[in-house]
Amino acid sequence: MTSLLKNRVLFGFRQLFYVVTPNETSFSMIESVPKYVDEAIPYFFVLAMTELVVLVIQKRELPRFNDSFSSVAHGLLSLLHGLLFRSVELATFMWAYSKFNIIQLPWDSPWTWLLGMIGVDFGYYWVHRAGHEVNIMWSGHQAHHSSEDYNLSTALRQSMIQKYFAWMFYLPLALVLPPSVFLVHQHFNLLYQFWIHTEIVRNLGPLEWILNTPSHHRVHHGRNPYCIDKNYGGTLIIFDRIFGTFQAEEKQVVYGLVHPLQSWEPLYGQFHHLIYILKTAWKIEGWNNKISVFIKGPGWATGKPRLGLLEDLPEVNHPVEKYDKQLPLWANLYVWTHFAVLVFGYQELAKNTQVFPGLFMAACILYIIYSLTTFGALYDHWRSAPLMEAVRCCLYLITAAKTFDLTIGISVGNAVFIMYFLSALLWLSQSATTIQILLKSKSA
Ligand SMILES: [Zn+2]
Ligand SMILES: [Zn+2]
Repeated sequence: MTSLLKNRVLFGFRQLFYVVTPNETSFSMIESVPKYVDEAIPYFFVLAMTELVVLVIQKRELPRFNDSFSSVAHGLLSLLHGLLFRSVELATFMWAYSKFNIIQLPWDSPWTWLLGMIGVDFGYYWVHRAGHEVNIMWSGHQAHHSSEDYNLSTALRQSMIQKYFAWMFYLPLALVLPPSVFLVHQHFNLLYQFWIHTEIVRNLGPLEWILNTPSHHRVHHGRNPYCIDKNYGGTLIIFDRIFGTFQAEEKQVVYGLVHPLQSWEPLYGQFHHLIYILKTAWKIEGWNNKISVFIKGPGWATGKPRLGLLEDLPEVNHPVEKYDKQLPLWANLYVWTHFAVLVFGYQELAKNTQVFPGLFMAACILYIIYSLTTFGALYDHWRSAPLMEAVRCCLYLITAAKTFDLTIGISVGNAVFIMYFLSALLWLSQSATTIQILLKSKSA
């Protein structure tokens, strides 16, 4: 391995822990800032595999195919619309910087870099706190909390809509911080939060005082009453200690939403609470109450305090029964193979946003979203899932035959085409059986 490649690989791992220097991560223009999060995908995978090996050695509960699928699918959904639209947080930050910037700090100073690191984390603390305490913001953030497991894949469960509320919390930083520095730390603040989603790291001694650690973040993901609305920090835990939201890990943490999500389908996971809020606001009497549904806490109800009452939370009973609809091993392997093809497709789209026409990009994004919904439908045992998958495979075959060069020979494109062809045959036969059963049950 050349030293250049070695350094690149080492940086790939270092960036996941925020172990980077101002020198190697300072840029004058936002266009020069690498897409650190996209580039980290292979390193996420390597770390997740390492976690798996350690879990086996430690004889702990292993990640489940269905839960991990849902987590990674949420992550892909949250990345997808970034292909069409520039980040809302960055766009509003740049606008605020152009209008209200009062001090022009040098973009290449280590002090500006350090201010950026702490400033972005401070902004994140309030974004995150509001994400839990303001119902309409919770409708976005809840997606991240919907897993009943806690492993590295959980970190990828990100919201599609949270950013549409988060941007306003970062605006004060635009008074002083150059946009490129803001963007760099937004990447690293998010990347740092990957490795803390694990049960294999128990306690980090004195580091627990300053840093957000796996132990602190386990508490944050807990639905035990002692864990609710605690530990909002991103990289640092000091803001929780200052503002009174810190809680150390005590009793065994039970993960997930207070009312666990009974589905693996990622679009439902993203939007179910938003739909619930809209329905509740529609039904509730009085304008004050209607507004309260949106701006008070998710636990609020008429006559209750802003954040609701802890005693209203459902009990956590042991043993905990998790939602666990499963697929046989062959179907898991099938879904994950097709899923890998989609992730590869996403990466190609991300690399070529300036090259591919907008309509083609939009069509590919819609196809990936439909695919993720279909895989979720398979995991959730929807009756229509085989037919949905057959349609998905046929759509690919028709488009690939028209778009790609599929001359006879050994190539990745041809291998994928054959894979989709065989898959289409499989699911068309399955769908025929399903339709026959449906017709028989109707005529009986
Ligand atoms: Zn949270
Ligand atoms: Zn988390």
